[in-house]
Amino acid sequence: MTIYDGADAPYWNGLTEGRLVLPQCACGDWLWPAVSQCGTCGSENIQWLEQAMRGTIFSWTRTWHRFGFTENIDLPFISIVATVEGCGIRLLGRLDDPDQIDPVIGENIYGKIGATRVGERDIPTIIWRRG
Ligand SMILES: [Zn+2]
Repeated sequence: MTIYDGADAPYWNGLTEGRLVLPQCACGDWLWPAVSQCGTCGSENIQWLEQAMRGTIFSWTRTWHRFGFTENIDLPFISIVATVEGCGIRLLGRLDDPDQIDPVIGENIYGKIGATRVGERDIPTIIWRRG
């Protein structure tokens, strides 16, 4: 079902369908955040390609205090920026952290698609796990 719009709609629709798809220009550049025209070569010939949900931790932070739209996430939680294997695109997500062990930059992770409840809506979210 297609419910998102804008340049990054295929990303959100892909997550909703259980797949990670990311945009690559015909010139080879990966484009993120998603755009409708390549900033390197000017082409609008952009393909959305399925990627494995594997990567490494680029950066992370643990949140201890609640802020807007986190009402349905157990505290504390870890947000990470993950470098996706293969394309090098960096994506924001949450780290499954049952033992509250500090992540290590460069640590291998794999993702599963979960959801973040915001108001009455479930937003697809990549939940990363170590390993
Ligand atoms: Zn290009």
